[in-house]
Amino acid sequence: MDCGACCRCFPIFATEEDAALEPQIKEKGIRVENFLRTDRVAYRMYPLPFLDACAFLKEDKLCRIYETRPEVCRKFEPGSDQCIEARHRLGIA
Ligand code: SF4
Ligand code: SF4
Repeated sequence: MDCGACCRCFPIFATEEDAALEPQIKEKGIRVENFLRTDRVAYRMYPLPFLDACAFLKEDKLCRIYETRPEVCRKFEPGSDQCIEARHRLGIA
């Protein structure tokens, strides 16, 4: 669905595996400090300075790197409690 609420609501982190699959993650995201890095947290995708959404969210609310988006995005389920929470927070019915 083209609402994009989950791409501009919760903190989003990509892994090294995600960045290997999609090199733009290293360009657009911020590398997490070494002492904070884990298997699931390597690049911060949101929030980022001066952006109100993930850098890959297009104006039409679709993902610019949909085919190679991070695993956390691929696992995010439309209609899940988190999806409903994101939509609620942003006032999307
Ligand atoms: S990578 Fe794509 S799906 Fe993931 S948060 Fe960014 S815009 Fe949304
Ligand atoms: S998963 Fe939910 S919050 Fe994310 S774009 Fe789809 S409908 Fe919106």
